[in-house]
Amino acid sequence: MGTCLFCDIQRGLAPASGEPIYEDELVYAHHVYPDPGEGSIYLGHIMLETKRHTPDFASLTPDEAQAVGLLAALLSNALKACTGAEKVYAVFYGEVTPHLHVILTARYPGLPKEYWRWNTLSWPDAPRGGPEEIAALCQQLRATLAELR
Ligand SMILES: [Zn+2]
Repeated sequence: MGTCLFCDIQRGLAPASGEPIYEDELVYAHHVYPDPGEGSIYLGHIMLETKRHTPDFASLTPDEAQAVGLLAALLSNALKACTGAEKVYAVFYGEVTPHLHVILTARYPGLPKEYWRWNTLSWPDAPRGGPEEIAALCQQLRATLAELR
């Protein structure tokens, strides 16, 4: 088995700005990080992963499935509270990294219809930021999650 991006991130081997938003023995969540040299990135773009390297929903234990579902709900709530998102999209494809992850994306008010669904990140008017803005949002999300749990 080759290296896995999500396993590396969880072990602290990949650069992380903003620190994990949530972590326990079953699940892990973090904001999508900017690549070095990349400009600002979409704020409110979160990866929720299992701690175990396992490929998909079909392979989850009941405890993992419950933890993923609960955290997806709480993070969606926190994203709405912290970003003003109107909706929160949740998707999983698993075509690139065979490690279960749910991609949660804040869908902001006023998003033109041509940017709905998988085009959301391309909206030029979406809130974007660098490491500092990501760190500030992660701090807010952690505080909100603590209140919700
Ligand atoms: Zn992995």
